[in-house]
Amino acid sequence: ASTLQETTERAGSNRDLGLIDRKSMIHPFTPLRTFSDGETGGPVVVDRGSGAWIETADGRRLLDGFAGLYCVNIGYGRPEMAEAIAAQAGKLAYYHAYAGHTSEPAALLAERILEMAPANMRRVFFGLSGSDANDTQVKLVWFYNNILGRPTKKKIIARERGYHGATVMASSLTGMRFYHEGFDAPSGPVLHTTVPHHYWGAEPGMDEAGFVAKCVADLEALIAREGADTIAAFIGEPVLGTGGLIPPPAGYWPAIQAVLRRHDILLIADEVVCGFGRVGHNFGCDAYGIEPDLITVAKGLTSAYLPLSAAIVGERVWSVLEQSSDARGPFAHGYTYSAHPTCAAAGLANLDVIARENLIERVAEFAPQFQAAFQDAFAGHPHVGEVRGTGMLAAIEFVADRDSKRRFDLSEKIGARLSAAALEGGLITRSMPHGDILGFAPPLVIDTNDLDFMIEKTKSAIASVFPGV
Ligand code: PLP
Repeated sequence: ASTLQETTERAGSNRDLGLIDRKSMIHPFTPLRTFSDGETGGPVVVDRGSGAWIETADGRRLLDGFAGLYCVNIGYGRPEMAEAIAAQAGKLAYYHAYAGHTSEPAALLAERILEMAPANMRRVFFGLSGSDANDTQVKLVWFYNNILGRPTKKKIIARERGYHGATVMASSLTGMRFYHEGFDAPSGPVLHTTVPHHYWGAEPGMDEAGFVAKCVADLEALIAREGADTIAAFIGEPVLGTGGLIPPPAGYWPAIQAVLRRHDILLIADEVVCGFGRVGHNFGCDAYGIEPDLITVAKGLTSAYLPLSAAIVGERVWSVLEQSSDARGPFAHGYTYSAHPTCAAAGLANLDVIARENLIERVAEFAPQFQAAFQDAFAGHPHVGEVRGTGMLAAIEFVADRDSKRRFDLSEKIGARLSAAALEGGLITRSMPHGDILGFAPPLVIDTNDLDFMIEKTKSAIASVFPGV
């Protein structure tokens, strides 16, 4: 009875909740003043979720075509997740991992991650977000070169349009102007190289192989300009995510890795999106033949039921850290919540679901149908420049003119209007920065009906934004 009463009270206070929120909270990527004053509408109060669907407090059911922020890989509302979290919280919600303390779920999860990771991975350092895990990677890389007596080998190469997070260091790595402007993200130790997007980056007539050669030449030129003895690491997402869902051109990763090896530059694979099944493999590096020295994971590690990330450390870095340890003393890095037992329990339960339901294999099997559905429905539209994707990631990029690849004027806000129109129809998509790009990354559990719904609602959205085309 008390639950019913609570629910009724919650529903009855929705308007107040909106007001409370607007007057209390700063939201990521939300206009501050207009939102706060209620001019943009909202907030959207999301109340519950089940499978690939969420429900708002005012009773709208929406298919979540972006799995939250491509993180709810196993879908919403899993009772086994709630049970695992409750059981651990009841037994031991928290203890720290400093000075050699651990808990059963943390130890087991670290082992489990290493079992799934490439063979050269040796240890796992837990954090809470993709951003803090990338910060950890940079500190590890700097520490490694200090131990090796190479105090100048410190710069990190990231890529234009790469996304690595929003902490001070991670936003510096992120190759997007708006993450830097206004925030003084320190640019000193970070360099950005060419984004491997053939559609926009290739010169006229240049095929994929030619474009890969250009990306490699650009990287070589950057290294030559800066000096390999000043560059510690290269960080990249196996499939570029927030920058536009861009699968690499064939042969890109092996060619890039060869350059890095020649110059003794470590490779950090940012697998925050790709890790744990999104592209039909355990990790994106498995799909593209990369052998990273360090791997960053978050999102799909717990399917976002609780926050958890990890910096996975490979043999090359681990062996140096380990050998220097007697001389250096305890590893001086960590967070109160590193290896949080309840978050680790969520991670284990999530990986159990993934294994029990063969979700990674399922993505590999379903991906051809998923990709073909987008190609068939949208590639021929006069305002579609490119349909691209891999695994269960897909993007449609819109242009004003296909032949000249002329973009729409920014003021037309085509991407935002398309995602708003899809939302009207009950489908959540993501309008990605850097052009008019609609992104799709649903929970890995969607079925054919859900896919049909996504395609139909996207078609209707396009028809409403481009009437008569
Ligand atoms: N790295 C990548 C590739 C991401 O996509 C993200 C988030 O979208 C991050 C890092 C940052 O993760 P978080 O938002 O958990 O800090």
